Amino acid sequence: VMLDKAIKENQLTLYYQPKMDIQNNNIRGVEALLRWQNKSEGFIPPDKFIPLAEKTGLIHEITKWVLNEAINKISEWQKEGKNISVAINLSSKDIKDRQLIVYTKSLLDYYNVSPEMLEFEITETAILENGETVKEFLDEVKNLGIKISLDDFGTGYNSLKYLEELSIDYLKIDQSFVKKMNRAKSNKIVKATINLAHELGIQTVAEGVETKEMLELLTDMHCDIVQGYYFSKPVPDINKIKFIA
Ligand code: C2E
Ligand code: CA
Ligand code: CA
Repeated sequence: VMLDKAIKENQLTLYYQPKMDIQNNNIRGVEALLRWQNKSEGFIPPDKFIPLAEKTGLIHEITKWVLNEAINKISEWQKEGKNISVAINLSSKDIKDRQLIVYTKSLLDYYNVSPEMLEFEITETAILENGETVKEFLDEVKNLGIKISLDDFGTGYNSLKYLEELSIDYLKIDQSFVKKMNRAKSNKIVKATINLAHELGIQTVAEGVETKEMLELLTDMHCDIVQGYYFSKPVPDINKIKFIA
């Protein structure tokens, strides 16, 4: 496949989307989202090529590339006086990769970046696919000082079990619930999720926040962090993000 050329020929880039503190509209960090600019086919979205990369095993190389790029970016921003943490998305296959944590640690040392500036986003599906090894993996990540987000919360299976067993810093409420918040039922689900997370000492991130109305509802529900097109789409250069005062 052409995908193996993507890394070698410099066709991958990271876009960044801000995560905003709902209290003061300050940026809390960014999520790094992978983009593949292919010469013949143009722009290919991650939903299209990540599954392929998982099948071929190329995902390990891709995740390493993302890690290197993201940690390098944190250190560049630090030199400009910006303290912005970066969250990267891990694939289900990455959780099986014992070398990944060692590699991450070596990058953090190399770029002189503190582990709290890095965050791993892990989906419920990825947790389900890895069984008992997940806890070990996440404990190691936690011990290193890297933050952990449970991504797409509510779409998987056994969501509540994970909350009880795993040490998670952030819970990301899936867009599908946030989008339907004007409907009474979804509204209650989002509200109850936020309350439950808070009871467990976990902060909440609402994904897919597109309107002022959504933001206001989430503020009333005491959600901690919001992410979505209302603030900014993912962009290649965070200096271009216009923040709402
Ligand atoms: P995700 O982790 O749930 O990322 C959020 C997706 O929602 C992103 O799509 C983002 O652009 C989009 N989004 C953000 N705000 C809004 C909004 O207000 N409205 C709508 N409709 N969408 C919004 P994207 O960038 O196409 O990424 C899709 C998925 O691909 C991600 O879902 C993630 O699972 C995966 N992915 C992206 N980058 C990577 C990566 O570096 N590694 C791995 N393993 N997976 C990645
Ligand atoms: Ca994510
Ligand atoms: Ca998500």
